[in-house]
Amino acid sequence: MRIVVPIKQVPETRSVKMDEKTGTVIRDGVESIVNPLDLYSIEAALILKERFGGEIIAISMGPPQAATALKEALAMGIDQAILVSDRAFAGSDTWGTAYVLGEAIKTIGDYDLIICGERATDGDTGQVGPEVAAHLKLPVTTYVNGVNDWTDGALTVTRLVEHGEEKVSMQLPGVLTVVKEVSDPRLPTLDGKIRARETIMPILSFDDLKLDLKLIGLKGSPTRVVKIFRPKVTRECEIHTAEDEAGVALSVERLYNFLQEREVV
Ligand SMILES: Cc1cc2nc3c(=O)[nH]c(=O)nc-3n(C[C@H](O)[C@H](O)[C@H](O)COP(=O)(O)OP(=O)(O)OC[C@H]3O[C@@H](n4cnc5c(N)ncnc54)[C@H](O)[C@@H]3O)c2cc1C
Repeated sequence: MRIVVPIKQVPETRSVKMDEKTGTVIRDGVESIVNPLDLYSIEAALILKERFGGEIIAISMGPPQAATALKEALAMGIDQAILVSDRAFAGSDTWGTAYVLGEAIKTIGDYDLIICGERATDGDTGQVGPEVAAHLKLPVTTYVNGVNDWTDGALTVTRLVEHGEEKVSMQLPGVLTVVKEVSDPRLPTLDGKIRARETIMPILSFDDLKLDLKLIGLKGSPTRVVKIFRPKVTRECEIHTAEDEAGVALSVERLYNFLQEREVV
């Protein structure tokens, strides 16, 4: 099974800052890590490789330092890593990102499966996985918490739904987005770290991918962050004190009326 795992480098959660003017994430001078939820997609790919054999290729679109995230994936056991990096990609929204990733994945040749994380902890949209599938015209199964079998070209998985689980069979090639429940990510090994350090990683640029400039970057992105702000949480509080039993009854009645007016009871 040939598996592609798109991973994103994100700011360490406590360091996420936004530029209120442009609506973009400030990445300069901020500690970066592998998107924590992508560790689960890496793990899912490693489990599938252990069961069915094959090869895993990690791919990341980002600035040159995103290579560090790819090295971590290599240290966990991924076979190859590709960095997709060019100034022209800066400012792309999720659709632009998915277009670039989709075109980069096309250069890999035949593959069976693309496994994305559920969402990135910075952008947090959960859109890129399904959008990559849309660009590549592939079926997608989201919120996958277990991969059961791969027979006759179809992958059987379970996915989380509101009140339980759903069993889905998807013809490959296809795309999965996985949730934490899929399996606990393994730690990088010393051998893996040495291999990661020695691996020469190809970097794909705008020119390599022959992309349409109209579909990437701030200008090519169909969505815009118009405004970002911290929501103000205001709470109005009523305090009822009761001196005696009659007061308690009155307080209870007021509370009941209050809840009834708001259709809570
Ligand atoms: C309306 C809007 C406008 C934006 N405008 C800008 C902007 O102007 N400038 C800017 O820098 N950013 C911008 N962003 C953020 C940028 O679009 C996201 O960083 C990027 O598209 C990934 O989206 P996400 O973080 O929501 O990922 P999600 O969709 O939550 O990620 C899901 C999964 O997709 C994969 N994935 C996501 N991103 C990558 C990646 N880069 N490489 C490999 N795999 C990946 C991972 O497997 C990840 O787990 C914008 C986002 C939105 C929603």
